[in-house]
Amino acid sequence: MGSFVYDTVTADGLPIAVCGICETKAEAEICNALNRLRDTVFGSYRSAFTIDYRLGELIREILAEYADSISFFGASVGIENAECPTGGVFGAVGEETESAEEGIKYEKGFMTGTRPGKIAFAAGTSDKRAAELFGRAESRQDYIELYEFLKKDGCEFIIITDGSGEEACGMAADRNGIVFLSETRYMACEKKDYFGYKRIGIMGGTFDPIHNGHLIAAETVREQLGLDKVIFIPTGKTSYKTGRASESHRYRMACAATESNGYFCVSSIETAKKDIAYTVDTVAELKMLCDDDAELYFIIGADVLEDITGWKGFDRLSSMCAFAAVTRPGYNKSGFLAMGKLREYGADVRFVEAPSVDISSSNIRKAVREGRSVRYLLPESVEDFIRIHGLYRGKAEQGGIDSILKGLA
Ligand code: ATP
Ligand code: MG
Repeated sequence: MGSFVYDTVTADGLPIAVCGICETKAEAEICNALNRLRDTVFGSYRSAFTIDYRLGELIREILAEYADSISFFGASVGIENAECPTGGVFGAVGEETESAEEGIKYEKGFMTGTRPGKIAFAAGTSDKRAAELFGRAESRQDYIELYEFLKKDGCEFIIITDGSGEEACGMAADRNGIVFLSETRYMACEKKDYFGYKRIGIMGGTFDPIHNGHLIAAETVREQLGLDKVIFIPTGKTSYKTGRASESHRYRMACAATESNGYFCVSSIETAKKDIAYTVDTVAELKMLCDDDAELYFIIGADVLEDITGWKGFDRLSSMCAFAAVTRPGYNKSGFLAMGKLREYGADVRFVEAPSVDISSSNIRKAVREGRSVRYLLPESVEDFIRIHGLYRGKAEQGGIDSILKGLA
């Protein structure tokens, strides 16, 4: 028996989450059903991906069969104002009353319910503490607490919440990982072109993890060079060393870190590629997505400045963009020398003095591995992300939700 969680955003930006507990054969059926329903119109929404009401039947059957071995189950789908049967996880919409409390049914130890046109959910647990946590969970922190509690227990579980309601927080999780729908919403808003901006910064990096040094450098360059936008581009394929984060996790951390700055955005142009991406190709690709007269500034720390002339296609790269070289503790002198060398190559290099913060991803990874505090070195959301996904603890990363998502797509 396994579990899966699929979450996505509809064509018009509505987050939808789907989950199931299944055996292999059933899983294949679910995937087929999901694929068939792509592009279906639900009321005012067209789905990029959605669920079939038959999934509800299937889950119901599976739940009944495995009732003894499942200690917790939760699911919900957010389809607002849908007028036709949306196939909420547990039955057609309209079967139950609007009020969640009135609508709840208890069956074989499971709690199920639907709300017409809004959400459908089911939750069941034999664990009192889990029930209590689920019952009062609303905010992001509540769900993290519940998730961590269930994970410790080692049982099979799925939680999905739609995020309707005031403080409510849409998320999907299973034993292997957790995704907040706010993340998917932000990802769905990823800008695919940069027309209309005249001065654009490109902040490339492994961002493993992204930290305040990166954010301070980017913000300082943005302000000093008067940029309209800074695009963070996490590098693609890395060599998958033990204790490193996957592309998808690095991308999601960059999203979380930059969400609150309207000038910042994140691009998956490199992380979405299967092969190694070279900066020169990325910048060439980006240029096609910008106005012809837009000026690009590639932001680099002093440490990178030292070896950038050795990058593949450096001449071509420097003909396409200027460089904004940012100070970084420990590298400034050699970096400064390198700047002279760069200019000899004919590159346009602007020097930007940023407040010096001696923070590096390597040191953060080391601190996490050794169980030391990384507070204030990186945004709280990234710190949370590292903790709840168990990153940098020394073990190779598990496939988790990402591989489940890939498997289903
Ligand atoms: P690692 O330790 O894994 O190499 P890192 O902290 O150097 O990580 P990267 O993702 O390698 O982070 O860096 C991306 C870009 O950000 C590079 O151009 C780097 O020079 C710059 N940078 C990283 N940290 C700082 C910092 N503290 N101050 C200024 N620039 C920084
Ligand atoms: Mg580095």
